[in-house]
Amino acid sequence: MSSANGKKERFKKEIITDRAVSILDFNRRFVERESYKELVTSGFPEKKLVVLSCMDTRLTELLPKAMNLRNGDAKIVKNAGATIMHPFGSITRSILVAVYEFEVEDVFVVGHYGCGMAKLDGQEILKKAVVRGVESKTIETLRHSGIAIDDWLRGFDSESDAVLESVERLRNHPLMPKDVVIHGMLMHPETGKLDHLISK
Ligand SMILES: [Zn+2]
Repeated sequence: MSSANGKKERFKKEIITDRAVSILDFNRRFVERESYKELVTSGFPEKKLVVLSCMDTRLTELLPKAMNLRNGDAKIVKNAGATIMHPFGSITRSILVAVYEFEVEDVFVVGHYGCGMAKLDGQEILKKAVVRGVESKTIETLRHSGIAIDDWLRGFDSESDAVLESVERLRNHPLMPKDVVIHGMLMHPETGKLDHLISK
């Protein structure tokens, strides 16, 4: 082992947390037991669809079960609020890759009621950042550099408007083929019930 690798190894051990250790311990047993065997599938989404949804923890298992999606059925992209903020950002890029490289024909933007991104206040997040040790000076510098960090961090007023806006952004994207259908839906985070808002 080179000295550079040795350093890296020591650094990793210093910052590893109990959570990471328990995940790695579980993972070793998971692989040894061959628990993966029932999940083996190809990288192609068999149902030819991609879902953009929220990272809300209530949806982790609920959303695929409520939509009848099993391993191998769909590409699933997640972020805070199921929002598309930038037409040329990583979410749109992922969806376009799913369309062009993985034969996806339907895109589902699935927001949910009671989303934590609704009414989220960017300035409140920045106050918390200061409490956690980020210097106010740094935040001011970002603001003065023309980076609208308050807007970047803020959420939305209405879950349904946010879904409709994301659907519009995808529908009107210059690289989105016209034969792909974009659906907008809202899920109830307890029952999994889907309300269909729009398809275009
Ligand atoms: Zn959410």
